[in-house]
Amino acid sequence: MFENLSDRLGGVFDRLTKQGALSEDDVTAAMREVRVALLEADVSLPVARNFVKTVTAKATGAAVTKSITPGQQVVKIVHDELIKVLQGEGAPDALRIDNPPAPILMVGLQGSGKTTTTAKLAKRLKDREKKRVLMASLDTNRPAAMEQLAILGQQIGVDTLPIVPGENAVQIARRAKQQATLGGYDVYMLDTAGRLHIDQVLMDEVQAVRDVANPRETLLVVDGLTGQDAVNVATEFDGKVGISGVVLTRMDGDGRGGAALSMRAVTGKPIRFVGLGEKMDAIEVFDAHRVAGRILGMGDIVALVEKAQEVLEVEQAERMMKRFQKGQFNMNDLKNQLEQMQKMGGMQSIMGMMPGMGKMAKQAEAAGFDDKAIRRQVALVNSMTKKERANPDMLQASRKKRIAAGAGMDVAELNRLLKMQKQMADTMKKLGKMGKGGMLKQAMR
Ligand code: GDP
Repeated sequence: MFENLSDRLGGVFDRLTKQGALSEDDVTAAMREVRVALLEADVSLPVARNFVKTVTAKATGAAVTKSITPGQQVVKIVHDELIKVLQGEGAPDALRIDNPPAPILMVGLQGSGKTTTTAKLAKRLKDREKKRVLMASLDTNRPAAMEQLAILGQQIGVDTLPIVPGENAVQIARRAKQQATLGGYDVYMLDTAGRLHIDQVLMDEVQAVRDVANPRETLLVVDGLTGQDAVNVATEFDGKVGISGVVLTRMDGDGRGGAALSMRAVTGKPIRFVGLGEKMDAIEVFDAHRVAGRILGMGDIVALVEKAQEVLEVEQAERMMKRFQKGQFNMNDLKNQLEQMQKMGGMQSIMGMMPGMGKMAKQAEAAGFDDKAIRRQVALVNSMTKKERANPDMLQASRKKRIAAGAGMDVAELNRLLKMQKQMADTMKKLGKMGKGGMLKQAMR
């Protein structure tokens, strides 16, 4: 679905990842091409601009390990940023269909694939969630559209509301609600009329239907091939009727795909599903990770960088272990440990992994080592000078006062921290003296 964009980006990154060291110029040049590629895919200008800006900032400050090239790192940053743009904050929710019968309002322009999508979603709800679904067409202008839904309903084994000639859209919506309640349906779907363009009559009708049905979901169906237009339609519909999500159809074509990338950023509304063909099963939950993967087509590199980031952490841990073996354990080490704990959750789990630390783990527990306590301790270390961290023994009364005040705490708390560091340093020394075959060495394996 994103062939062109993916080809363009693939070219940029191939060149980038083949090089060893990257200069700032390389990154800038690559980002210029990324911007052009995005614009060619019909991503809106502000979104493309913002994207490139964020990626450049992240690429400039990124920590890189030996095992990957800076170019590979850039690919990973682009990948993560794509996911963010595609899904915004947080993952898309499942359809809200509690409190049966739950109304789902389907809106969109004529020809967008609205009727097809209504039937596809009904089939999904029936097959996957074992829901009883009722579909109703409100397209009183086009009897053929009503027929079409009835035929699809028969095909997929989902009931449709019988057609009563002469009713208007609001009357049909009321009848659908009544029928769904009486008939014990879990969900009823209202397939509203579409127009070729957005006009006031259409919006008035959709608003009236919305007010009668009070839908749990209002899904806008838009043709993914129409690029920026799709985004504009979404903005319009959202402003006039309020939508809870978007279904992008025709994503099986090799269209430019920019609609997907701009949709969330411009409208703030999530893409919930993508249509991938004419068949009744050709619909998927929108998955930003999968789409980002398809756009970049560089899953190998992304996986490699993820792995390398793990290696980076292991390397840091190994460096620390080497220091411990020499009996070195100053405030920097303590701070590192504290931060690791914050990341990994709890003192006990870490100490439990280190031989000879069982007793201290218990003490830590007794001392109330929660996140808050750890944050306070890190603040104390941060308040020390570089020299003081490396040689905590030099801390006399006046320095202690300054450090505690700097962290907004009292000296007693600092003394507790110093005692802890001392205990740990002593333990490290003892363990270190156990030599090559010592326990720490074994623990490292
Ligand atoms: P409506 O006017 O919005 O109700 O549009 P329809 O549901 O009648 O769809 C118009 C045409 O688009 C039909 O021929 C559908 O089979 C086709 N269509 C709908 N969704 C998709 C899709 O995701 N991919 C493809 N390739 N065709 C689709």
